[in-house]
Amino acid sequence: MMIHDKIATVLKPFVGITLSTRQVQVLVREKYPDTNPTSIIPSDHSGPNPRSGRSYCHCSGKPFQIFAHDKGGYKVLDGAGGAQAPASSANTNMAGQTATKARSMVATWRSITIEDAKSAVKAYNEGTYGCLKNPALDQQARDMFLEGLGSTSGKINRQVDFIGRDYGGAAGFKAAYALAPDIARDIVANREQYAQVALAALPILTEIPSREAIEILYRPFVKPLHGKSNWQVWGTKFWHFLNPEAFPIEDSRVDKFFVLADLNSVDKYLRFLNRFREFALSHQEWLPHLRQVDGGLAWCDNKLWDKMCYGLGE
Ligand SMILES: [Zn+2]
Repeated sequence: MMIHDKIATVLKPFVGITLSTRQVQVLVREKYPDTNPTSIIPSDHSGPNPRSGRSYCHCSGKPFQIFAHDKGGYKVLDGAGGAQAPASSANTNMAGQTATKARSMVATWRSITIEDAKSAVKAYNEGTYGCLKNPALDQQARDMFLEGLGSTSGKINRQVDFIGRDYGGAAGFKAAYALAPDIARDIVANREQYAQVALAALPILTEIPSREAIEILYRPFVKPLHGKSNWQVWGTKFWHFLNPEAFPIEDSRVDKFFVLADLNSVDKYLRFLNRFREFALSHQEWLPHLRQVDGGLAWCDNKLWDKMCYGLGE
């Protein structure tokens, strides 16, 4: 795969967001660990070099150019054809529908409108994962965690496997399904403390879970495989079902919404929790409207915000 295609593939969820060279390198290497970081040069895909006038990638000046220079960083363009240079992003000539679409494509925790949020929740509920409607899959997950963390190693194994394989925890990285028994074994070995730490965390609107708690919950989800080792999406989905009020889910769509582009780590989850909490606290008045669109399906407000983040990518 050419370096241009790798970068373009990885950055699709970040359209409209400005990133540093380091952030781009981290993101590309998270998906393609074998890539030499020195070959990941955003300026090569941001048009002709300003000094030499030379183009280092065939995307220069074409509709599929990946970035535009933006105040020392690189703004990800909509390479699907509707390239938006930074200056034209406030274009008011667009037809209403296109304008709405463009706005939701760049909706972040700083820019989202209530209309974006409502259509995103609707899109989530109408969407499917695998061959199941999202709400039906949610129901399966809720059933599987009805009694909290499994009481036997067989049950914990099934819960870990379900979240990784069926609930998108391994983010489609099929080879990682094989890690489920190892993750489950580590949880079983420490079952009592694990369940207690997960349950003791207070609702996130009351306070952010402690670093110590997250370190304990995170540990079983650190397993090296093909250059990746922190299975953060898997972990956060698992913790969410152990204590939905305390632990919101973090995945690539959530990261895009909260503009988080660092490597997976306890620190990154803490940074996410802080942004999530700030956002949730400052948008409480949206909740009655979102609950109405959702028709009461979400089991808590954290899930409602999760539906919103996910639905923005639909
Ligand atoms: Zn390029």
